[in-house]
Amino acid sequence: MSIQTCDYTVKVIFIGDTNTGKTSVLHKIQNPGQNAISVERTSTIGVEFGAFVKKFDNKIIKYNIWDTAGQEKFRSITTSFYKNAAIAIIFCDLSNYSTYRSLHGWIHDARQHAPETVSILLVANKSDLDNNRKIFTQDLQHISNQYGIEYIEVSAKSGVGINNILNITTANILQKHNSGKKVCGLSVKTEHMVEIKTGSKLCDKCTIM
Ligand code: GDP
Ligand code: MG
Repeated sequence: MSIQTCDYTVKVIFIGDTNTGKTSVLHKIQNPGQNAISVERTSTIGVEFGAFVKKFDNKIIKYNIWDTAGQEKFRSITTSFYKNAAIAIIFCDLSNYSTYRSLHGWIHDARQHAPETVSILLVANKSDLDNNRKIFTQDLQHISNQYGIEYIEVSAKSGVGINNILNITTANILQKHNSGKKVCGLSVKTEHMVEIKTGSKLCDKCTIM
């Protein structure tokens, strides 16, 4: 599908500790029918990029998904990575408690560097490892209440919950957009098939076109 046929284009970023399954989830979103977690991957530029087109509420949406590759080990993500993000997905691994503790820092980074309008979702991955669980529902509820951010449990391995990641966040940003608010990182097709950046003048965390 070409970009001209899409109603919206959205920038999505994936952040969170290394090994939480960000890249696996990206691949599962792009290839729902495939086993997403067995592939060895490397990146020399520090970012993996995946485009994905999906229908939501009768609108065709193109997601440009930016996945950190390596630099998340030291939480040294450049501010340009956060720029123009309409959606930020923050990952933890249900079988590794230290990835839960790190969520505070990632939320802080997203709130500091991403546009104010960013829709943040906490994604607790690896729900298939239930008998090795180190992060419990009450932990997730606690951080969710503390920051006012929704969370979901998913598994890149089994595919459980994967569709909800973009559904929940897209509903959030389209609700804002439809109520007349500008959303940075959400581009809207005009009647003349020309893309405009709705957030271009909104804040200093958007690229001014
Ligand atoms: P990233 O560093 O956050 O991008 O994490 P990766 O996608 O590279 O995954 C890290 C490791 O976790 C790999 O060995 C994956 O096979 C494994 N993994 C990722 N998602 C899942 C999942 O949902 N369930 C299980 N059991 N393993 C997973
Ligand atoms: Mg990765």
